[in-house]
Amino acid sequence: MAINIAIDGPAGAGKSTIAKAVARELKFIYVDTGAMYRAMALYLIRQGISPKEKEKMEEVCRKAEISILYDNGSQQVILNGENVTPYLRQEAVGNMASVSSADPVIREKLVELQRTLASRENVVMDGRDIGTCVLPDADVKIYLTASVSTRAARRCKELEERGIPCSLKEIEEDIQERDRRDMEREISPLRQAEDAYLVDSSDMTIQEVKEKILCIYSSKSRKEN
Ligand code: C5P
Repeated sequence: MAINIAIDGPAGAGKSTIAKAVARELKFIYVDTGAMYRAMALYLIRQGISPKEKEKMEEVCRKAEISILYDNGSQQVILNGENVTPYLRQEAVGNMASVSSADPVIREKLVELQRTLASRENVVMDGRDIGTCVLPDADVKIYLTASVSTRAARRCKELEERGIPCSLKEIEEDIQERDRRDMEREISPLRQAEDAYLVDSSDMTIQEVKEKILCIYSSKSRKEN
């Protein structure tokens, strides 16, 4: 049976960096579920549909075809036959995804795709609801978090490295607003699963977080064998 590692947590906690590193080490596949919600959001932006137009949005999303493939181990998201991966990290797409991801039709569709992937392959999957909803029987569940100020500082650094000027205060407010939307939504809100290990990366390096998760994984697999 496929082995599944679930990593959930708020925006900017470093989930994707860590999940990628853990997957590489274990030779598992890394599944970035946020990218799927972003692809759906990009589609809505391109169609000029606002999440306020609920029925129209759901109708369009039902018809959208989203699939995943891997190019040299790197996840590519295919939307209606087009590889949209290069467009998914834009701020506007992230903001739209943060709102449209609360819709049940969108969630149902993407959760099905995520479960199919996890049933076929050993995966490290990151998101907001992986341990609580998508893969409730995951072999290892991690809730990765960090303080708002740490997450904002990391995000600012990342943007500046890409040559995008940013205000720390605005980023902090944006992170708080995304946390609020993810934690307060009705369906699959962001929360730590009861059986998830809490890892606070505020004062840890990437290497330390990766090792901690690998350590949790190997101690769990030792117990089970
Ligand atoms: O993690 P990332 O920022 O790429 O996710 C984009 C948006 O998709 C998040 O703001 C969150 O609202 C949503 N999301 C979700 N459930 C997931 C992954 C992401 O609701 N499993």
